[in-house]
Amino acid sequence: MTNLNKQLDDLVNHILLKAENQHELLFGACQSGVNLTNTQEHILMLLSQERLTNSDLSKRLNVSQAAITKAIKSLVKQDMLAPVKKVDDARVTFFELTDLAKPVAEEHTHHHKATLAVYDELVNQFSDEEKQVIERFLIAFSDQLEGMK
Ligand code: ZN
Ligand code: ZN
Repeated sequence: MTNLNKQLDDLVNHILLKAENQHELLFGACQSGVNLTNTQEHILMLLSQERLTNSDLSKRLNVSQAAITKAIKSLVKQDMLAPVKKVDDARVTFFELTDLAKPVAEEHTHHHKATLAVYDELVNQFSDEEKQVIERFLIAFSDQLEGMK
């Protein structure tokens, strides 16, 4: 039980390395068979669920509006998204998934579920009592991250 602080430091940096240039870390390989970034796939997944503007997407993904605009432009170019003007306000443009994009959005949704299943299997290796300790640790760690400046 020694050096837990060192192990935690290693783990956090290992996660950062794995997630380099991505906004999320998913377990298992992407099965969509298209050459999109995780961020682009995540945008397709969100837009398959509801209508969101660039600014909504920017908040959801916690990335700049410029980055969203760039990702969407690329998705339109690849025939994954089609622009649709809002009926009562033509200044507002929404983006709808093309038939080509729908299976990609489904795969990405599944990839998130598969990642949660990996975590499920991981935590189920511990007893209920241990899970309570893990939960306390996660809350404390999360609070520490929140307070980070
Ligand atoms: Zn994928
Ligand atoms: Zn995602």
